[in-house]
Order: sequence, then structure tokens, then C-alpha cells
Amino acid sequence: MGRSDTSMRASRVAAAAGDARGRSPLPRRLGARALLGIACAALSGCGIVCAALHDPATLPATATDPRVHYETGADAYADAVARALPAAMAEIESAQGRPFAHPLVVGAYVDDRAYAAANGTGHAKTNGTTLFDRITLAPRLWREEPDRLDAYLAHELSHEHLWGTLGTFNYVRLPAWFIEGLAVWASSGGGAQRVTVAEATRAVRSGQSIAVPDAAPLLFLSRLSPPANLNGLEGPRASHMAYRQAGMFVAYLHDSDPNRFQRFLDRLYAGERFKVAFEASFSTTVNVQWGLFVASLPPA
Ligand SMILES: [Zn+2]
Repeated sequence: MGRSDTSMRASRVAAAAGDARGRSPLPRRLGARALLGIACAALSGCGIVCAALHDPATLPATATDPRVHYETGADAYADAVARALPAAMAEIESAQGRPFAHPLVVGAYVDDRAYAAANGTGHAKTNGTTLFDRITLAPRLWREEPDRLDAYLAHELSHEHLWGTLGTFNYVRLPAWFIEGLAVWASSGGGAQRVTVAEATRAVRSGQSIAVPDAAPLLFLSRLSPPANLNGLEGPRASHMAYRQAGMFVAYLHDSDPNRFQRFLDRLYAGERFKVAFEASFSTTVNVQWGLFVASLPPA
């Protein structure tokens, strides 16, 4: 599906390196968004409140990239992140059609509790999270899947790029399948590695499909859920099935007409509601495009 690693991680390091502008203004930006943060905190437990009190920007930064911060013991992790960051940012800027809107920080953690306190969710189940202009990367990613660091970093950078460009109010109204599908597609499969395109094709062909609504149901409660009738897939594999399907759908939307896809993104970047931008760009509803996508898949 979609994009090849070579086309994305090649020659845009210099462009992305120009974004190294030092310490993020995250605390100030969190303050400016306090009202929304309070509303979100009410919906997500202490996650965002805890995150506001555990800003990775207060941790030491790597010598090579002042955007990358780390807790004690995570210096090797942070160095690997710093090496990967410029190419990953260039990859996302290329896929999503414009530079990042804001400076960002990345935090690398080796302690699960510290990661949970800083990442905005309050738990350590994920390999990475994005919160405003802050990306936090999990101890588990470095312990168990260091070879997938680049892809997960790029996946989170896709969220950061979209969030920073749209602003929080418009970002949280996007359907989860689009946020995650865009990130999987733009990162060449980041977050979906445990399920192949062939496996996802078979699932869709047999009716085990994600839901593709044209809006988020409620602020910050939008999550991409696995197909309800999955057989034999549990835990991360079930999540990766959902992410793989979403990534394949976004790849289909892009590959069927890349210029149209970019115009669609530009409409979102300009502040249009997802449903309005989608139907104006594709001249159909999301459900009709999903049907065309399914019809384009090879037989199971
Ligand atoms: Zn994601």
C-alpha cells in the first residue's frame, strides 16, 4: 500500500533540520488552551492534568537536537530519536503537503510510570502519544521494538502535524479512522506493522471492517476500534488490524488522485469541517468511497 520508504526518508533532511528552533513554547500554549484542556481532562481522567505537570521539555535535551528530551537512563533512546527525527519530519511534511505549523518537543522515557504521567493518557499501554506540540515515546517501544522507532516516531509526527495545523478545536472533531489512517499511510505503516495488507484485505473482504463515520462522536472520546466481528485476533493485533485498514483506505483515497487528495487536505487545513471538505473533494460521501475502496481490493 501507498508510500515507499525510499521516497520519504531520502532527501529532505536539510529542510526538516531547519525546524530545530530550540525549546517548545508548550507550557504557554497549554495555558492558552486551558479551557479546552479542562474539558478534555473531565473526559479522560487525570491524563491531561498530569501531563501538564510533567512536561518533557523540563527534562534534559540531547546535545544534537534541543527538541529531544529524556529522563535519566534514556540517553541512548533519545540519541536514537534525535538521529531519526529530521528524516521522519521530512517524511510527514512530504506526505501531508506542508511544513509543521509549530515547534515541537519529543520526550523519550524508560520508566513506565513517568511515561504514563507525561503522555496525556495516564497509562503506559501505547508506544507513543501526541498531546498538543508534545510527542512522548514509550519505554516499551525502546525495550521491545527499537527497530520500529522510526515508523512509530513518524506516526506520532503525523498527528502532531495535523493537530498543529488544524488547531485543537478542528482536530478533535476529525473521525478517528482518518487521523490514524493518515498517520499509518504517511509513516509507511507505523502503528500497523503486526497486520499485513493481505490479512487486512481478507478481513475486509469477509465483512470484518472498521467503521468509517464522517465525524468524531464526541471530543477526545473518538478511538479507532477494531472490527466488531473479528475472529482470532486479540490485543495489539486487533488494533493493528483496524489501523491497517484505515491506512489502506487513506492510501486508496490518495492514490486514486494525489492532487485531489492534497486539495482535500488543504480544505481541512483551511478549517473546513471534515464532512464538507470530503464531499466537496471526492464528490461522494465517505461511505461511498469506502465501497469503492472495498471493490478495488483483490479477491480474498
Ligand atoms: Zn496514532
